[in-house]
Amino acid sequence: MDYRFGPELQSLRDQALAVGRRAAAERPVREDSWIVGTSRAFSLELARRGWLGMTWPVEVGGGGRSSLERFVVFEALISTGAPVATSWFADRQIGPTLMQFGNAEQRARFLPEIIAGTSAWSIGMSEPDAGSDVASIRTRADRDGDDWIVTGAKIWTSGAVDADWCYLIARTDPDAPPHAGLSELIVDLHAPGVSVSPIADMTGNRHFCEVVYDHVRVPGANLVGEANGSFRQVMRQMEHERGGVDRLVSNRALFEEARAVADTSDPTIRQHLARLESGYRIGRNLVLREVVGQAPPGWSAVTKTFCTELEVDIASFAARVAGADAMLAGRVARNLCYSPAYLIMGGTVEILRNIMAERILGLPREPRGQT
Ligand SMILES: Cc1cc2nc3c(=O)[nH]c(=O)nc-3n(C[C@H](O)[C@H](O)[C@H](O)COP(=O)(O)OP(=O)(O)OC[C@H]3O[C@@H](n4cnc5c(N)ncnc54)[C@H](O)[C@@H]3O)c2cc1C
Repeated sequence: MDYRFGPELQSLRDQALAVGRRAAAERPVREDSWIVGTSRAFSLELARRGWLGMTWPVEVGGGGRSSLERFVVFEALISTGAPVATSWFADRQIGPTLMQFGNAEQRARFLPEIIAGTSAWSIGMSEPDAGSDVASIRTRADRDGDDWIVTGAKIWTSGAVDADWCYLIARTDPDAPPHAGLSELIVDLHAPGVSVSPIADMTGNRHFCEVVYDHVRVPGANLVGEANGSFRQVMRQMEHERGGVDRLVSNRALFEEARAVADTSDPTIRQHLARLESGYRIGRNLVLREVVGQAPPGWSAVTKTFCTELEVDIASFAARVAGADAMLAGRVARNLCYSPAYLIMGGTVEILRNIMAERILGLPREPRGQT
C-alpha cells in the first residue's frame, strides 16, 4: 500500500530528499546514517532548516509541526544516507523524554541547544552484565549533599565519543527491589572522572563505546523525573526508540541500488524482491501507525521486530545480487556484517517477542523450572 501525500508534504519530502542526497554524496557509506553518520555541521544544517524539534511545542522553541512532517523529512534523510546521527538520539528520544518527565528548568536548559543542533547526546543504559535485563544495572549514583556521585561502567553507549551528554540510568537505592531503585541522570561527558573508549566493530565502525564513570559529580538538578522511578520512564523512552522510521530504512539506499542491477529474469530473485517490497510497505504502515499515535501500547515491539528483520533480509538480498563480489570490502560486505546488530540494539528480537507474547497476546509466562 502506498500513500499519496498532499502537495505540502510532498514538497517537504522532495526538499529533504535533495538535502539527503547531497549530504550522502560526500560519504563512502550510506547505510545506518542515523547511528554511524556523525556530523556536527549537518546538525547545524538541520537546525537551520527547522528540522530539529520539529514537532515540539512552539513554547519550548520547537517547530510545532505535525508528526507526519517529521516522518517525511527523516524517512527521506535516513533512506538517502544523510549523516543525522549527531542529533538523532536527542531529537528522537531525549527531547520527548524531557518534555514528559523533565522539569521546567531542564527543558529551558537542554531543549534550546538540541533544537539549535549544538549538543549531541548518548544513552547509557547497557552494562556488561545488564543488557536485556535493565533491572540488573549496577552503576551507582550516591547522594552527596545536593549532588550525585556516579561510579560504574556502561557499554555499547552509541556516539559517546562525539557526545556532550549521556542520559544515564543508575542505581540510586541499592536496598530497593531491582526494578525500583533506578534513576535517570543527565551526565556531562566532559566532567572529571568520565573516560570514553570507542569499541571497533567488525565493520570498522567505532561508534559505540565503553564509558567508565569514576566518582563523577553530577548536579542534583540533573535528575530527570522521580528518584528511583526510572523503570516506568525507561519503558516510555523505549517506545520512542523502537517505533520510528530509522528501524525501517537503515539500508534502503543499498536495497535500491541492488534492485536496480538485480537479474530479474531469475524467478527466485523476483520472489525475493516481491517479499522485500511488500515487507517494506507493511513496515511503513506499522511505522506510520506509531507516528500518528494510533499504535496500541507495546506495539513498537512488533514494529521494531518486523522492520529490523526486513533490514536483515535486505542485507542478504544485496549480497545475493552482488554474488562473489559481496566478499570484497565494500558497502555490501559491510552491511552484511553489520546487519545482526539490527536485531540486538534497542531490545533484542527475543525480548521483543516476549513483550508481544505477554503484553499484546496476554499469553502466560512459562512457570519456572518447566521447559
Ligand atoms: C549497534 C548497537 C548499538 C547499541 N547502542 C546502545 C546505546 O546507545 N546505549 C545502550 O545503553 N545500549 C546500546 N546497545 C546495547 C543493546 O541495547 C544491548 O546489546 C541489548 O539490549 C542486549 O543486551 P546484551 O547485549 O547484554 O545481551 P543479553 O541481554 O545478555 O542477551 C543475550 C542473548 O540472550 C537473549 N535473552 C536474554 N534474556 C532473554 C529472555 N528473558 N528471554 C529470551 N531471550 C533472552 C537475548 O535476546 C540475546 O539473544 C547497542 C547495541 C548494539 C548492537
